[in-house]
Amino acid sequence: MQAVELTDAPAPVALTEANRILVVEDEDLIREMLQLSLTEEGYCVTAVADGRAALGLLLQTEPTQALPPFDLVVLDLMLPQVNGLDLCRLLRRQGNATPILILSARGSETDRVLGLEVGADDYLVKPFSTRELIARCRALLRRQKQNYLPQPTVLHYKDIYCYPQQCRVTVRGEVVNLSPKEFRLLELFMNYPRRVWSRESLLDRVWGSDFVGDSKTVDVHIRWLRQKLERDPSHPEYILTVRGFGYRFG
Ligand code: CA
Repeated sequence: MQAVELTDAPAPVALTEANRILVVEDEDLIREMLQLSLTEEGYCVTAVADGRAALGLLLQTEPTQALPPFDLVVLDLMLPQVNGLDLCRLLRRQGNATPILILSARGSETDRVLGLEVGADDYLVKPFSTRELIARCRALLRRQKQNYLPQPTVLHYKDIYCYPQQCRVTVRGEVVNLSPKEFRLLELFMNYPRRVWSRESLLDRVWGSDFVGDSKTVDVHIRWLRQKLERDPSHPEYILTVRGFGYRFG
């Protein structure tokens, strides 16, 4: 006889995901609240109170079965020992791509952009509601899972379609010829809509870290790309300049 699942109620979604979240927050009350609400959602939560302890956990060289890598870091900015921005920067420099959600009392555009600039994936301003926190965590975890799936066959934004496997792009229904660098820039932009990229990080991702040249190269390619994509290159609607930081798509 075949075994039958003896449950009528659907399993809680978070439980089946069994994601591991690292919470880094020095304020006891907030840390406990985070730990409690994320645990209640079914996540496996580890909480630490300073940046150095977090780094120790995140940069352990060989994740073991008992201690698998974290799927998400919820990170306060103002921390003793190593602050949140430095921690972010350090992790990314080490090639650690664990999604990071920054928590901060500071909500200015500059802080937000700076957080994203050093490699955080999202930003939540204190005080925040538990519901919003959980929604953001879910979204980041979902996005991270999608990164492991095969590349999408088509990237789409407004009237731009990019087919990575065919290296083909259409804009308003017309095929557009892009150079390999222009194509890689566009593909990167479309994979991370609304993410702010510095010229340096674009150089790194598209030209490679051993590229010798300056960031003006990026500006030149962005100009060419705009001429090919934008209705009015002097008033771009796709590739936007973020003054003082770089560029973003959409
Ligand atoms: Ca703090």
